[in-house]
Amino acid sequence: MRCLALDIGGTKIASALVVDGKIEQRQQVSTPQTDAVNAMHDTLTQILQQYQGQFDYVAVASTGIINNGILTALNPKNLGGLAEFPLKQSIARHTDKPIGLLNDVQAAACAEYKDEDKSAVQNFVFITVSTGVGGGIILDRRLLTEPNGIAGHIGHTLADPNGPICGCGRIGCVEAVAAGRAIEAVSKQWNPPCSPKEAFELFRKNDEKATALIQRSAKAIANLIADLVIGLDVQKVVVGGSVGLAVGYLPLVKKYLNEMPHFYHCQVEQAHYGQDAGLIGAAWWVNDCLQQGISLK
Ligand SMILES: [Zn+2]
Repeated sequence: MRCLALDIGGTKIASALVVDGKIEQRQQVSTPQTDAVNAMHDTLTQILQQYQGQFDYVAVASTGIINNGILTALNPKNLGGLAEFPLKQSIARHTDKPIGLLNDVQAAACAEYKDEDKSAVQNFVFITVSTGVGGGIILDRRLLTEPNGIAGHIGHTLADPNGPICGCGRIGCVEAVAAGRAIEAVSKQWNPPCSPKEAFELFRKNDEKATALIQRSAKAIANLIADLVIGLDVQKVVVGGSVGLAVGYLPLVKKYLNEMPHFYHCQVEQAHYGQDAGLIGAAWWVNDCLQQGISLK
């Protein structure tokens, strides 16, 4: 089965054919920002035409929440003019092949899970710690997407009831404490102001304030993992994202997790897939749904 896979991000749209888990004919264009709705319909038309006749199904990984084929978000303002965009309908104008859509972090979770030994790992979570914090949850070997596409937004669980206000409107979310944006909110107040990358460099030189800041983030992620283990019997967590993959970060998360009682522990590894996780994961997920006769909404 040949898949046309799309990965729609806030700044770029990647497309490729995915055949046997391998990427072919990868292309990338900018995500439309002005007259976004019309420009998005045009961009999708062009992509579908370019790959016409070369695929058996379409798989889309997209930023935001995919609810019944429509693009939305916890904070729709983040999507600019593309809030409530009818993504599935727009693609279906150009093909009668099956179309499956999911959130990009859910797709990345599938990419990371697809090579796992499914008999050994049935409950699995991918966490990305980047500008924000996101996740994808696999329970009993199936990605949770229904009924509203929300599952996996674990960056918006509670880290600190007295913490900073989150972009979603809630106080003290994991994202508001642990994400790159949360690190920057503090490090830009320093003298001299630092980017998150510079904060990590200072952390690796044992600078006191940088260490405290990175520790706060890693502790929040360790607690998030512990909550997932105790709440969902998660056996393995894979961590990715620019903060998650920063040198020295994951060992710190593991240290805090290991300091907790043993029933909170699970296997923790760093992510293997980079920029193509969304394309590969979406292709795998849609194929899996088709093989198992699960309807694509
Ligand atoms: Zn939040």
